[in-house]
Amino acid sequence: MIVLGRKHISFSPPDISREEIDEVENVLKSGWITTGPKTKEFERKIAEYIGVSKAVCLNSATAAMELTLRILGIGPGDEVITSAYTYTASAAVIDHVGAKIVLVDTAPDSFEMDYSQLADSITEKTKAVIAVDLAGRICDHDAIYQVVESKKDLFKPNNEIQGLFNRVIVLTDSAHGFGARRKGLVSGQIADFTCFSFHAVKNLTTAEGGAVVWRNDLGLDDEELYRKFMLYSLHGQSKDALAKNQKGTWEYDIINIGYKCNMTDILASLGLVQLRRYDGFLERRRQIIGIYDEMLKPLIVQSFKHFGDDYASTGHLYLLRIPGIGEGERNEIIKEMAEDDIICNVHYKPLPMFTAYRNLGFDIRDYPNAFNMYKNEISLPLHTHLSDDDAVYVIQCLKKILERLTGIN
Ligand SMILES: *Cc1c(COP(=O)(O)O)cnc(C)c1O
Repeated sequence: MIVLGRKHISFSPPDISREEIDEVENVLKSGWITTGPKTKEFERKIAEYIGVSKAVCLNSATAAMELTLRILGIGPGDEVITSAYTYTASAAVIDHVGAKIVLVDTAPDSFEMDYSQLADSITEKTKAVIAVDLAGRICDHDAIYQVVESKKDLFKPNNEIQGLFNRVIVLTDSAHGFGARRKGLVSGQIADFTCFSFHAVKNLTTAEGGAVVWRNDLGLDDEELYRKFMLYSLHGQSKDALAKNQKGTWEYDIINIGYKCNMTDILASLGLVQLRRYDGFLERRRQIIGIYDEMLKPLIVQSFKHFGDDYASTGHLYLLRIPGIGEGERNEIIKEMAEDDIICNVHYKPLPMFTAYRNLGFDIRDYPNAFNMYKNEISLPLHTHLSDDDAVYVIQCLKKILERLTGIN
């Protein structure tokens, strides 16, 4: 194998083609740039792609999760459980609505929550669990549903919609998981509510953006729920700006004190093109993962498994663990990779290690498994602009550095 020359390899740049640029230009020239026909079309296309009846587009996954909790009537006095091993957004939204954040450690040697600890963490105050589809692989919802069913007796519904579930409600932070599959289902068909992110570093991007969908077999009133999301995301206004803009229909009501997190048509138009290209993105990610996996196979490192008999992830992150090293050596490897102009990352520093979570009383010593996953983890560059040669180059540099620093070869 030839050693390639020096290259700059960024971590996760957006894949924007002429098509996206043209679509955005069309919207900019159309006379309507905020929520309107493009956003509605993007919502329909997302629902169609996932195979659910409705999708709601908002300005972030964070907003999608927060509004879901609000619409479920979750707030002060309630508890919501999520993983210690995730991005802050999964937990922050719990605090936003005034509920108590409960963090669960990962299972030993796993990036997923410890589901027996999840069971033990459910109390009479628990209203929801926010599961995380880390790296774009759908987490074990069979285990999660088994847990919430087994704890049904503890559940105390506070309102009609909670009564409909009559058990802890399952929300999934699938910020990484748009298009992921497991056991014949697509992310969005599995959890009660699933939230996606279209942030700039995600597989499908609108620069900033997100969406929420819900299962269609729960007896939820799709139209009513959609209307609620519209009200909550636009100041409780009975008509959106487009409807108010029609001839002679200026008048509107404010139904509730709502929030402001609607998606704009500029961004939806970007998303519509990304969605058309999306299966190609997933395929390209799969190919790069294939190159990484193949080249790393002879080493004693552990790569996250993106593909199995009954699941296919979105290939959002290439998570690598180097056995026998700690935080210091891991950081040194990332620094040396950066010196070779290859940008790596860490997913994730467990939440209890951050100031804000320490101030809430969390202590990383209570999350030993999450710490073990974090301390030797490196996320390699993974995106659709990488050529096969780029992927080979990344691993060649990594091997060279690993051999020098750790003796792994
Ligand atoms: C990116 C991300 C989010 C937040 O998405 P936004 O659209 O930026 O709100 C939430 N959870 C995880 C795991 C993420 O990676």
